[in-house]
Amino acid sequence: MNLPKTVRIREVGPRDGFQMEREFIPTATKIEIINALVRTGLCLFEATSFVSPRAIPQMRDAAQVLAGIDRHEGMEVGALVPNIRGAENAAAAGVDEIVLLVSASESHNRSNINQSIEGSLRGFETMAEIASEAGITVRGSISVVFGCPFEGNVPVENVDRIVERMAALGITAVTLGDTTGMATPPIVRRVCRSVMDKYPGLEIGLHFHNTRGLGLVNVYEALGMGFDIFESSIGGLGGCPFAPGATGNVCTEDLVYMMEELGLETGIDLVELIRVAKKVEETVGRELPGQVMKSGRRLDLYPPLLNPLI
Ligand code: ZN
Repeated sequence: MNLPKTVRIREVGPRDGFQMEREFIPTATKIEIINALVRTGLCLFEATSFVSPRAIPQMRDAAQVLAGIDRHEGMEVGALVPNIRGAENAAAAGVDEIVLLVSASESHNRSNINQSIEGSLRGFETMAEIASEAGITVRGSISVVFGCPFEGNVPVENVDRIVERMAALGITAVTLGDTTGMATPPIVRRVCRSVMDKYPGLEIGLHFHNTRGLGLVNVYEALGMGFDIFESSIGGLGGCPFAPGATGNVCTEDLVYMMEELGLETGIDLVELIRVAKKVEETVGRELPGQVMKSGRRLDLYPPLLNPLI
């Protein structure tokens, strides 16, 4: 295996995770959590999304959250924008990066953004202009790349078509998303190989969900192919809107733990990260799926028990 030496991790919990929470998380708490994450060494964030407050009330404080984040050199704070209005609001709020969202399947795009893939792609032209005028970078985020809950397998040609249009707009970074955790290692190998071979200069990040327990397995598969940008969420926040109770994104602490055990550099303090995960768990008021936050690292030792169970 030809593993990369360093890995970049983008924290998406404040967006992908918080948006699934029914109870409104106070703005000050969101800011506190993001700033605690910044102190762990995380540099890349998808901090919020500029969507209609009617569609996702949890994200109605996007501009205030952005204003409260401690920024430093080298950080990239991005926000998801589904439409032109969102791009304008994100630019006005001072994001470093806007993330343009589109699904690789027609039915998912219609159900998620309420328009056709072509409609989304056309909107991207204006959104990319808004970003360029504001001096903001643009990243494309493609959903359901590895499988769609409405259509099943997604032809890789769908992904190609979208990447091509994005490239034509000067977009040099994309994220391939496994929105409902349908990826498996053979699918990751096939789809990622195809995209990386066709677009050698493209920066490709991978966004896996652990919905069926294969999140880190898919990360490991992609690492072996040389991929070095992964998205995850603190505590494994997030979920699957179609499967109540199903786990969400790959968990950031579990991901960092695996990287450390593989000898890969992340620049993130795992002990601090675990502390933040526990604080997030307290905030949302229910058990989060993260595992290392419960058991600790493998060499975090315990005092011997008198009557061990096994
Ligand atoms: Zn996601």
